[in-house]
Amino acid sequence: MRSVNDARKWIREAEAITVLTGAGISAESGIPTFRGAGGLWKQFRPEDLATPEAFERGPKLVWEWYDWRRTLIAAAQPNAGHLALAALEKTKPRFTLVTQNVDGLHERAGSRNVVKLHGDLWTLRCTVCGREKREERAPLPELPPHCGCGALMRPGVVWFGEMLPRAAWEQAEQATRAADVFLVVGTSAVVYPAAGLVPLAKTCGARVIECNMEETPFSAELDRAFRGAAGELLPQLIAS
Ligand code: NAD
Repeated sequence: MRSVNDARKWIREAEAITVLTGAGISAESGIPTFRGAGGLWKQFRPEDLATPEAFERGPKLVWEWYDWRRTLIAAAQPNAGHLALAALEKTKPRFTLVTQNVDGLHERAGSRNVVKLHGDLWTLRCTVCGREKREERAPLPELPPHCGCGALMRPGVVWFGEMLPRAAWEQAEQATRAADVFLVVGTSAVVYPAAGLVPLAKTCGARVIECNMEETPFSAELDRAFRGAAGELLPQLIAS
């Protein structure tokens, strides 16, 4: 119990808080994570579909998977974990929420300063002219979707093997360096460069607090590592 009280105090007293979230924070909203328990989709692994090569081989198949996820997420609601972070933001002068998620649930919960490292499922981008379009219909009326210029559109997300958007990455790094408290929630912390923010926060002097159902490669080195569901842990840690 002492460790929860310490963590609550650090969070309460911090002026600058940076949070890194992963798929685990949306699990309680019914969105499957990549690693850990989750339903199979056809006979493919998500990791095999979220690549430029997979899209080149079979744009329709890749789009079917994204459209299935978009439809699932459109019907989902932000959970207590998302809401606790949105409430915390309102109490802090400097607060940055860095997310690897593409589902938009943080924004729907009311979070404002959200840095999206892996893009956004609700943005479509033309593979030829680069035009971006926000599209919230799910399922999409046409699969695969096409741009006004006639070319294929792709999901506006970062695939395995692709670069992160530079501005988002710089903002994430800066907020990590400046954090008094760094919260890392629901990420397996194996996908780089995002996972590298965790040791960076530690090196730069933040108190680092993890919330995850399971151990991660960094758990042992952190100031606190809580095992449990984000939707239960975060409201406890954030309550003043
Ligand atoms: P991941 O699937 O690798 O890991 C999920 C982590 O969440 C695991 O460590 C698991 O123990 C933990 N977890 C599961 N349920 C939890 C809960 N209720 N509370 C707390 N922790 C819980 O996800 P990742 O680390 O985000 O990295 C994988 C990539 O997957 C990212 O690039 C991301 O873009 C993508 N992704 C996004 C979504 C989404 O937007 N919701 C969903 C799946 C995958």
